[in-house]
Amino acid sequence: MKLAMIGFGQAGGKILDRFLEYDSTRGTGIIGHAVAVNTAKADLMGLDFVPDENRVLIGQSVVKGHGAGTEPELGERCAREDMEEVQTAIDQMTSSEIDAFIIMAGLGGGTGSGGAPVLAEHLQRLYVEPVYGLGILPARDEGGIYNRNAARSFQKFAENVDNLLGFDNDAFKTGGESLGEGYTEINEEIVSRFGALFSAGEVEALGDQVAESVVDASEIINTLGEHGITSVGYASEEVENEEKGLLDRFRGGNDSGLDDAGDATNRITSLVRRATLGKLTLQCEVDSTERALLLVSGPPEAINRKGVDKARKWLENTTQCMEVRAGDYPLPNEDKVAAIVVLSGVTDVPRVKEMQRMAIEAEENVEQLRAQSKEDLDKLIEYGDDE
Ligand code: GDP
Repeated sequence: MKLAMIGFGQAGGKILDRFLEYDSTRGTGIIGHAVAVNTAKADLMGLDFVPDENRVLIGQSVVKGHGAGTEPELGERCAREDMEEVQTAIDQMTSSEIDAFIIMAGLGGGTGSGGAPVLAEHLQRLYVEPVYGLGILPARDEGGIYNRNAARSFQKFAENVDNLLGFDNDAFKTGGESLGEGYTEINEEIVSRFGALFSAGEVEALGDQVAESVVDASEIINTLGEHGITSVGYASEEVENEEKGLLDRFRGGNDSGLDDAGDATNRITSLVRRATLGKLTLQCEVDSTERALLLVSGPPEAINRKGVDKARKWLENTTQCMEVRAGDYPLPNEDKVAAIVVLSGVTDVPRVKEMQRMAIEAEENVEQLRAQSKEDLDKLIEYGDDE
């Protein structure tokens, strides 16, 4: 599936950068157009892969290139005032080439939190293609103000996109490392999960390889629907081709081929279970899913129709939803089999409820926190403006 990707704010821009790297090294062809938007000049300059002409600095008259701190209201204002410039950068694409838009943003800060929902609303008005969001939730220990910002932004963002794909930093944070190192790993996780999903829809990249049941862009679009929240599960397993070859020889060859097929079927079903019941991008009750999509990728000899069908039935029972799509994506040079499970339209998401509770608590002392952050921002603008 070909996407126009927009990274809004610092986290959004960094994730966009990683997607561009993923796309170019893997040749997946999922990015039709890439634009980074920010109120902070330094963040935009720090990107490696986004073309210079597609980096849009907004809100210069408001924050003078220094960012929006933790004030989504500022992010929103900057986005509204300079929407035309964002639009100009997006207009550089040929819209017939893309299947959908995706706006990516960390929801706990200021620029992405406030600006991403505004851009979503704008794009929905202008284009017929679906507009999706990839909303990054802050970790719990980032505190009340971040969680409060995220709770509000999550709601607004969800109201203005066709589907909001959720990713919770809290569920993926690794202990020990510095924040920067932690984000590098988390961003890899984001890009590999969602990248694998979107590349599956980009069937042209398959070349000669023929999937038994193809999942194309329209299947992904139908799964995501026109409203709702999505969580994605992922599990993979290396296939030890060499070792297996030796084992077969030791056994005197594989006479029936049945063992292979049986192994592949079992591997697929167990991977799909792990993907669904393991760590999701956004923890949710899987039986609150409205529509699901299951994708199995890997070397062609490790994928079979029976395994995918069996896994699909299991997913139907577990999610208790009637609309479950399934497909395979053969990757001849890959050494692992991976299962991606898309749970779309989930309604029971405890983390969002918790964020809303944290937001109410934070509301009680928000004026104080906001005054502090405004003071910091003013100082930054006053002392840091050397232009
Ligand atoms: P903005 O520039 O004002 O939109 O704010 P940021 O994007 O810097 O931060 C908003 C939130 O995004 C933070 O609270 C973090 O939870 C998260 N965040 C910041 N940087 C990254 C990153 O590189 N990766 C991920 N996954 N999350 C990030």
